[in-house]
Order: sequence, then structure tokens, then C-alpha cells
Amino acid sequence: MFDKILIANRGEIALRILRACKELGILTVAVHSTADADAMHVRLADESVCVGPPPSKDSYLNVPALLAACEITGADAVHPGYGFLSENARFAEILADHNLHFIGPKAEHIRLMGDKIEAKKTAKRLGIPVVPGSDGAVMPDQDAMAIAKAIGFPVLVKAAAGGGGRGMKVAHTEADLALALTTAANEAKSAFGDASVYLEKYLQKPRHIEIQVLGDGRGGAIHLGERDCSLQRRHQKVWEEGPSPVLDAASRAKIGETVAKAMREMKYLGVGTVEFLYEDGEFYFIEMNTRIQVEHPVTEMITGIDLVLEQIRIAAGGDLPMQQSEVAITGHSIECRVNAENPVSFRPSPGRIQQYHPPGGLGVRIDSAVYQGYVIPPYYDSLVGKLIVHGKTRVECLMRLRRALDEMVVDGIETTLPLFRALVREPAIIDGDYHIHWLEQYLAGQQPG
Ligand code: ADP
Repeated sequence: MFDKILIANRGEIALRILRACKELGILTVAVHSTADADAMHVRLADESVCVGPPPSKDSYLNVPALLAACEITGADAVHPGYGFLSENARFAEILADHNLHFIGPKAEHIRLMGDKIEAKKTAKRLGIPVVPGSDGAVMPDQDAMAIAKAIGFPVLVKAAAGGGGRGMKVAHTEADLALALTTAANEAKSAFGDASVYLEKYLQKPRHIEIQVLGDGRGGAIHLGERDCSLQRRHQKVWEEGPSPVLDAASRAKIGETVAKAMREMKYLGVGTVEFLYEDGEFYFIEMNTRIQVEHPVTEMITGIDLVLEQIRIAAGGDLPMQQSEVAITGHSIECRVNAENPVSFRPSPGRIQQYHPPGGLGVRIDSAVYQGYVIPPYYDSLVGKLIVHGKTRVECLMRLRRALDEMVVDGIETTLPLFRALVREPAIIDGDYHIHWLEQYLAGQQPG
């Protein structure tokens, strides 16, 4: 096992990792920018190192400073959390070159899945169903219109290097295609430095359903059921739940086993999430995330497995915590991402939290790094915290979520709490009857179709 882990992240996920380390008896090193000197993860860690000024590129993404911090503190492993360097294969290799462990998958798998076109090819080869689309990137000498017609309109133009929903444009008709291709390519070029795009069938009302996996890197892998993340705004997840309101045990077992088998074949190491769109009973692979995800607590609540703790154990050469037949899904869980944003305009609302009262009671969990008097800096994401609720059934979970949301107080800044208080009372949400465009239609004041 590791002796000392450096946590190359901030906010709630840094705290989440720190908690797992404490339970395992591993010493922790927090790193922080000058803007985060008062952050909770810094206060709770055994040691802390300032790695640079506020902008992420100068601090949390500053590889030489992170290596120096490992050297100074004698850390033997680095946990990247999510975002920042978590899906940077080069960073994993650099750590290895310095005899440091990267708590994450093998660099080759990070690289493979980071390229969406290669990821899709790999998924297909491993027997995972994919969205119908172009065979790889659309080359300048290719007739994009012919490819699009063969797929059938509407089509989605997607950036090969995409992430966070950027570099994605829908062409509803033939007339839209040329513009969608140039805008997506330009956006991809400026956001990722790579203009290559590919085409996919645009699914009209799919759900986003993702499968959580855990692999030992030696050909053993299990799946831990699914999370339904269909409630999204601008391709960003807002509300996640598990199990999905639309899957039964047989379809869960079938897709879960397909994914687990693929992971065994790849000899995948650590935690990962295989994301699908789901429409008319069919799954379509969209991407794989080779890291811990924001919404991982949903799975923890319904399986009782501490994913971050297992991730660390497995990175240190440990075995899978159980066999597939021992994985049991119990009850229902919902996570709300409470952001420091205006609940109507979604304008960021950084600043000082004057009053903070997190909800409590049976089945209520808060993953957050804020406290009363804490100032949310303007430089990073606007997550205040995640409210995660568990109940024996979905109905009980919704009842509990309603009262937990009513109990929660975050004053001094604007938050998205009012949005969740409204959502949890919406008939379509209560019925579990929503798709990936539902929330945007609802926010636009339309009757979601
Ligand atoms: P990113 O890496 O940018 O997040 P993804 O491929 O994961 O991109 O897609 C993000 C979101 O975009 C999905 O959750 C879904 O809402 C939408 N999306 C992606 N592909 C399609 C598609 N073929 N049809 C309809 N919506 C899609």
C-alpha cells in the first residue's frame, strides 16, 4: 500500500480522496493555488504545498510544481481526482518516469479513450454497441454529405478531441450540414487544438445511461450497475440517479456484462465509466471516462462500495473487492449538483457564503468542501457541493430529497437550489419520464416533449 498520497486537485473531490486516504491510514499531501490557501482540503491534509497562482494552468495543471511537491513531501503516489490532469496520459507517464504511482488506469488506455474516434472503434471491436456514424474522422477529400445521407438526418458533428460538450453541432437537414461542419471544426480547433470531426446519428430523445466498472488490470473486471444522467444543461449533468427509472434487472445485467467483458479483454485497471445513449431499448456507446466521476456517490450509495478507496487499493496492486455475483444493488439514490450560479440565468455567483446549513438525517449525504464564511473563488468550477440521497425505493428517495433540499441553507451567494426544489416536484421527474433534452426545454419554458 502507498505511504503518502499527493492529491492533485481541489474542492469536494480533494476532500473525498482525503477521506478515503484517512480510512486507509495513508498520509495526505494537499496542493493548492494561492487562491485556495484557506480551502478545506488544505486544512484537513497532513501536509500542504502551494503550487502556484490562481489560474489552473499555473497551479493545478503545473506538472513541474506537482513533481517538486512530491519530491519535497516524499509522496509515493498521486491521485488526480476528476478534471485537471485526471485524463492526461502524458502526466501518468511522467509520474512513472519519476517512480511515482498514478492512481488511475494505464496510460495507453487513457490515451485510447481520450481520442473519441479510437474509443469508438475500440468499443465496437470489443462488442459494445455504438451510435451509427462515419467510420472515423471525416477527411477533407471525403464527401461529408454522402456520409451524412447514408447515416440519415439529423446528424451530429462531433470533435474527435471533444469534451464538456464543446465542438458539437447538430445538422437537422442537408442545408445545415456545411455550417455545422465548419463551426464544429473551428470550435474544436480553438478548444482542443485539433479540428478533426466525425459524424453520428443524432438521437432525438435518448437517455444518458452510464455503466460504472472496476478492473484489476490483470483481466478481472466487474460492473456496478448504471447511473442515469439524462438531466443535463448544455451537455453538463445536473441531476444523476441510480438505478435508471427505465431499466429492468435483465437489461442491466445484459449491458453490464457486455461492458465488464470488454474491460476484462482490455485488462482495464481501476475505476471507469462507459457512457451510453439509450433509446427505444437500445444502447449506443458515446465515450468512456477513465477516472472517478463527479456522480460516483450514486453508485456508492446503492452498492455500499467505496469507489475511491477501492481505486486506491487497486492502484496499489490489490484485488477487486468482490465478484460480480456478490454485487448487490440496494434501493435508489439521487445526486443534485448544487452550483454557485443564478438558478435562472446560470450566471456564476462566486463570493462569500454567509450562512451554511447542510441537511442531515438518514440517507442524506453531502460531498462538499465549503463552510460558513468560505469565499468561492471565481477561477474554478462553480460546484458548491453535491447533495446525495438514498432511499429504499425511488419514491422514498424523492420524498427524502424534497425535505433535504428544503432544509439546506446556502446564503450570501446565488445557488441552483431553487431549481432542484422545483424539479423534485415536477410530475415528469417524479415519474422518471425525461430524456437528455428535457431540462433545456423545461428551462426555456416549453412543455418538454
Ligand atoms: P463530451 O465528451 O463533450 O461530454 P459526449 O460524447 O459525452 O461528449 O456527449 C455529451 C452529451 O452530448 C451526451 O450526454 C448527450 O447529451 C449529447 N450527445 C452526444 N452524442 C449524441 C448523439 N449521437 N445524439 C444525441 N445527443 C448526443
